[in-house]
Amino acid sequence: MQNPFTRREMMKGVGAAAMAAGFGGMLAEAHGATMEKGPSIEKIEDRLPPLPYPYDALEPYIDKETLILHHDKHHLGYVKGFYSALDKLENARASGDFELVKHWSREIAFHGSGHVLHTLYWDNMSPNGGGQPAGDLLAAMNKNMGGFEKFKQHFAAATKAVEASGWGILAMELYRGNLTILQAEKHQDLTIWGVFPLLVCDVWEHAYYLKYQNRRGEYVDNFFKIINWHEVENRLKAARKILT
Ligand code: MN
Repeated sequence: MQNPFTRREMMKGVGAAAMAAGFGGMLAEAHGATMEKGPSIEKIEDRLPPLPYPYDALEPYIDKETLILHHDKHHLGYVKGFYSALDKLENARASGDFELVKHWSREIAFHGSGHVLHTLYWDNMSPNGGGQPAGDLLAAMNKNMGGFEKFKQHFAAATKAVEASGWGILAMELYRGNLTILQAEKHQDLTIWGVFPLLVCDVWEHAYYLKYQNRRGEYVDNFFKIINWHEVENRLKAARKILT
């Protein structure tokens, strides 16, 4: 199953980008991880959080081949890009040469955000998912969104309407403590500072094109059948700890 060391390392490593969005420690906490420093990792592949279920577990809604490519190739690419950029900036600090600081800062935002969002995406799906949220999460949707059905309509519409490659995101605004729905273009554009993502849906074509081709809407509708609402509610609780 999951390798807690790998996840702990991932959360430690992702801290720089996550802290910029204001949820570094809480993201780790939401995964039951800590910010402890572990022994160094030799292979970059070891920094890729493992899928929390087998590749075929989300059939028929997300096919095995898509998950293999998406996790093992695409997500790994973001992990590599993120750690590479961190290394380059460490070198820049060591040498005092900041000529390429703009480039590597952009790389950290893109790949770091991709790493965070994919990690959340795997966890917020489950072969036993679907249905409706309950408890605090449902109460928050009732209060801020006008109920689950209104949330669902809004989230689906926003996710389907993302221009080109990006994400639909349910998040908590930490300044107000309210739920909000955002689109992300690429991984890092169109956000608000200080939001804590609760539920994310990847609408890059690599997430659905093998099975759904151009039918993004069908993929998003089926995504609701595999949402792990228990995990989303856990994140809501973690977000609220920031507010208290
Ligand atoms: Mn993706």
